[in-house]
Amino acid sequence: MSYEATIADQLTNVRAQISAAEQKFYRKAGAVTLLAVSKTKPNEAIVAAHNAGQRHFGENYVQEGVDKIQTLTHLSDVTWHFIGPLQSNKTRAVAEHFDWMHTIDRAKIARRLNEQRPDHLPPLQVLVQINIDDESSKSGISPQTDTATLVSLLRDIQALPKLRLRGLMAIPRAIPGTSTEPEQQHESLKRLQDLFSEMQQLFPELDTLSVGMTNDLEVAIAHGSTMVRVGTAIFGARDYIEKD
Ligand SMILES: *Cc1c(COP(=O)(O)O)cnc(C)c1O
Repeated sequence: MSYEATIADQLTNVRAQISAAEQKFYRKAGAVTLLAVSKTKPNEAIVAAHNAGQRHFGENYVQEGVDKIQTLTHLSDVTWHFIGPLQSNKTRAVAEHFDWMHTIDRAKIARRLNEQRPDHLPPLQVLVQINIDDESSKSGISPQTDTATLVSLLRDIQALPKLRLRGLMAIPRAIPGTSTEPEQQHESLKRLQDLFSEMQQLFPELDTLSVGMTNDLEVAIAHGSTMVRVGTAIFGARDYIEKD
């Protein structure tokens, strides 16, 4: 099968998996948006997925993402999501080129994105990253110790006119080399789901819970995910060791 046909085929499979999980866990049909994570993959992979109807794409590295966005301007109906860790000196590129930003973890980043968002663009759609397993290797707010910090960050974002607060994002713990203990996965996802509901009481505009990847898609949908970020199952394995 050609590269393009393989990607179309794998997209079909992932969509079927999402629909099946929506049904199985009594979610509305179409409740879960598929974000195709194209980091490290070439422009042709994105074009192939686009030809197969995919419209939301996620990138982890600022420069790589901006290069792709600038090369693929003819795909004018694509929504670009930044999903990687972001240093404050790189906020400008995200503010100027992306539509969504999933990994805000402090007010300084939010303020810079707001200042740097060009006037001619609609507000940047933003999510706050939650370090749901409280892992030192991951960024994000640790809600176990710090609900007040989370609430105050959400308030700060709410007040920024060029950002639109949409929800929460998390990367639950994965145990390297295994497909992660289901029991532990279930626990962290349940905690995230509860936190999301709690925050929705305070911030009714929150409508997006970005969680679930190739290996935990189904359990994430069981726990209220509205946006899954899938790379490997669509584009195949990435052939290098990832930086964190
Ligand atoms: C790489 C990445 C994904 C996709 O992971 P897969 O296991 O390849 O589906 C999703 N979210 C984030 C934040 C990532 O860095």
